[in-house]
Amino acid sequence: AKGSLAGGISSSSRLTSTGPHPYPLYMSSGSGARIRDVDGNEYIDYLISYGSAILGHAHPSLTAGLTEVLTRGTMFGTCNVPEVELAELITDMVPCAELVRFANSGSEAVQGAVRAARGHTGRTKILKFEGHYHGWSDTLAVSNRPDETEAGPYGAPRAVPHSPGIPAGVVDDVVVCPWNDPEALHAVLDAHRGEFAAVICEPIVANNACVMPLPGYLERLREAATAHGAVLIFDEVCTGFRTGPGGAQSLFGVRPDIAVYSKALGGGLPIAAFAGVREVMETLASGRVKHGGTYNASPLCATSALITLTALADPAVTRRIEEAGLRIAEAIRRAAHDHRIPCAVQGVGAMFQAVFTPDGAPVHRYRDTFRIHRRRYNTLRHELLRRGVHCNAYGLACWFVPAVVTGDELAQTCEAIDGAFAA
Ligand code: PMP
Repeated sequence: AKGSLAGGISSSSRLTSTGPHPYPLYMSSGSGARIRDVDGNEYIDYLISYGSAILGHAHPSLTAGLTEVLTRGTMFGTCNVPEVELAELITDMVPCAELVRFANSGSEAVQGAVRAARGHTGRTKILKFEGHYHGWSDTLAVSNRPDETEAGPYGAPRAVPHSPGIPAGVVDDVVVCPWNDPEALHAVLDAHRGEFAAVICEPIVANNACVMPLPGYLERLREAATAHGAVLIFDEVCTGFRTGPGGAQSLFGVRPDIAVYSKALGGGLPIAAFAGVREVMETLASGRVKHGGTYNASPLCATSALITLTALADPAVTRRIEEAGLRIAEAIRRAAHDHRIPCAVQGVGAMFQAVFTPDGAPVHRYRDTFRIHRRRYNTLRHELLRRGVHCNAYGLACWFVPAVVTGDELAQTCEAIDGAFAA
């Protein structure tokens, strides 16, 4: 919106946050892979509601199914059928899932998984990794990026500030360890022998430059967690049902004890789950570990998830997502090469990020993310918006590819990418 706020929306908004850079975009409608803003501009969408609307916007099956639930009534507080069917589908799709518990958001589901691990082991300490994001809860929102703490100064009152020179440290009951570094992992585990309830990670670091695990690293993590009697938790909020029907654990062939899901699970509505091996999850069933929530797996959200997962259970759907993403990633690589701008595209087809490192080399370790030119990514995003392509505003998070993006839309996206790099 030139010179004025989008659609005349007042700047005296009562919201406590502002829109993303470079200017607020107010969206008014969406259909398939496309969204429209209040000024009538259209964009092909690779943010898709932070990765949630994996089947695209206003998917006809979801619209019909959800309208039906709303018309019938959204009663909960007793057992509900979609919740049970959804749990069965998740246990069919996810290798580690023997028992499932639902929540409303990824943050809550992570907390539930951590509680289950603590209840199971009788220990309290959690090992997490530098730059991995597990939601906004006070304990796990620990960042050791000196310029940001996800919990904020009041959210984590006992947080000890870290610096890149001091890679690992203890904050509350959380020990932060460098990622993709087996020696550091063993040093941290040995220093806290017998103390960890859980080791938690994002198998693909979706919230920090889409860093991939180095070959063999997840296997070593699995072995180390077992050897130390800690519950291994994969936070699959981003990778779950996106990188294939079985998520990252199928992609890499490494089975955690518990996996956490949200985003793609709900197809755009708020629902989350943690699912894992019976032995650990039974701490919840026995009531030894408490977890609850009024809206957990409400019939509306459980129906949305059921419709979405039924579609994603077909491997052809996630294969299509992967192939579409690889095409875009290749277009970025080619444009960066042609226009001589150092840039690496990392991740997988279904979720990836363009990172502007000084030499164009990919990033494997957290400390290398400090070398990423984030303003350059913002410029790319701005130029893409001008050409009708919408992606994440935050240069360290990732692009999420919708299942419904068409061949024409992909061609348009590739052309926009070339134009944006040229500009
Ligand atoms: N874990 C990961 C890997 C995430 O990406 C997110 C959200 N970006 C969360 C947890 C938290 O989920 P929510 O925002 O639904 O609380």
